[in-house]
Amino acid sequence: MSSQVHKIIIIGSGCAGYTAAVYAARANLKPLLFEGIQQPGGQLTITTDVENYPGFPEGIQGPDLMALFKKQAERFGTVCFPKDVNQVDFKNHPFTITAEGKTYFGESVIIATGASAKMLGLESEKRLMGHGVSSCATCDGFFFKGKELIVVGGGDSAMEESTFLTKFATKVTVVHRKDKLRASKIMQEKAFQNPKIDFIWNSAVEEILGTVEEGVRGVNLRNVKTNEVREKPCGGVFIAIGHIPNTQLFQNQLDLDQRGYIVTQNGSATSVPGVFACGDVQDHVYRQAVTAAGSGCVGAMDAEKFLESKGD
Ligand code: NDP
Repeated sequence: MSSQVHKIIIIGSGCAGYTAAVYAARANLKPLLFEGIQQPGGQLTITTDVENYPGFPEGIQGPDLMALFKKQAERFGTVCFPKDVNQVDFKNHPFTITAEGKTYFGESVIIATGASAKMLGLESEKRLMGHGVSSCATCDGFFFKGKELIVVGGGDSAMEESTFLTKFATKVTVVHRKDKLRASKIMQEKAFQNPKIDFIWNSAVEEILGTVEEGVRGVNLRNVKTNEVREKPCGGVFIAIGHIPNTQLFQNQLDLDQRGYIVTQNGSATSVPGVFACGDVQDHVYRQAVTAAGSGCVGAMDAEKFLESKGD
C-alpha cells in the first residue's frame, strides 16, 4: 500500500472521465484515472458512427473518438490504469479507493462510471448471452449475417440498433411492449421507412428459445393485452431497453436517487464534499457524448476549486 495522497482520482473512462482528466491534468493536478476492465472507453466504444459530436463534420467512429480522448488526457500527464475499482471509502478524508487489492488515497474523487445496458431479466437471456443474445448491435451484428433478428425496445437505442442490424440481417422485427414508440420522430421515421424492419406491438419477450451450442431459434412472445403467447422464429435477439447507472460501489457512500443515479447539485457536487460526479452516472436525461464531456469539465473545475479551498 502506497501512502501517497493523489490530488484527484477519477473513476471511469468514458467521455466524462477523460474530459475531467484533460482539465485536471492541464491544471497540473496529475490525475490518476481508473479505466475499468469491462468497457474501457465507455459506451462510445460499442458505437459506430458518431455524427453529432461537434468538430467532426464528417462523423467519427465511437472507438476512434475515445482513443483521441484518452490520448489527449495522457498528453497532459494523466496516469491511466486499466483496473476496476472494487471498493471506496468516502467517510474518511483523504478518500480511499481499492482497486485489485491495492489501496489509493485521494484528496478529491471524480466519479464518471456511466451507465450499463438494461436486460429483461430472463434466465434464457442470461444463458444465451453471447450465443445469439446481445445488447450491442455494433459489437455483434456481423455475426448475424443472413439471419432474421428481433430487437426489443421502443426507444432511440432500439431504432438505432434495428437500423444498423439491417446491414446484416434479412429482416429485423422490433418487439415493443406498447403500441407506440418512445424514440425521437426522426429515428422512428428512419425505421418505419426501412423495408427490412417491421414491428410487433403490445408484446413482451417471455422466453428466448435455443441452446448454447446452436444459438437462438426463436422467442415466445406474450401479447400484453390478450395474454396470448405465440412462438416467433428468429436467429438472434438484441436487447435495447435502456440503461442502469453504474453506482453499486457508491450505495452506502453517496446520496443516490430512486433510479440509482448519483444526486448532484451546484455543478457536480455529490453529498460528500470533495467527491464529484459527472456524465451518465448522474444524468438520465441528456446522456449525450457532448453533454457527458461538458460535465467532465465541470467535475474537474469543481474538484480544482475544492482543492484550492483546502489550500492546495
Ligand atoms: P429509453 O429509456 O429511451 O427507452 C427504453 C425502451 O425500452 C422504452 O421503449 C421502454 O418501453 C422499453 N423497455 C424498458 N424496459 C423494458 C422491459 N423490461 N421490457 C421491455 N421493454 C422495456 O432508452 P434508450 O436506450 O432507447 O435511450 C436512452 C437515451 O439515449 C434517450 O434519451 C435517447 O434519446 C438517447 N439515445 C440517442 C441516440 C441517438 O441520438 N443517436 C441513440 C440511442 C439513445 P416504454 O416505452 O414502454 O417505457
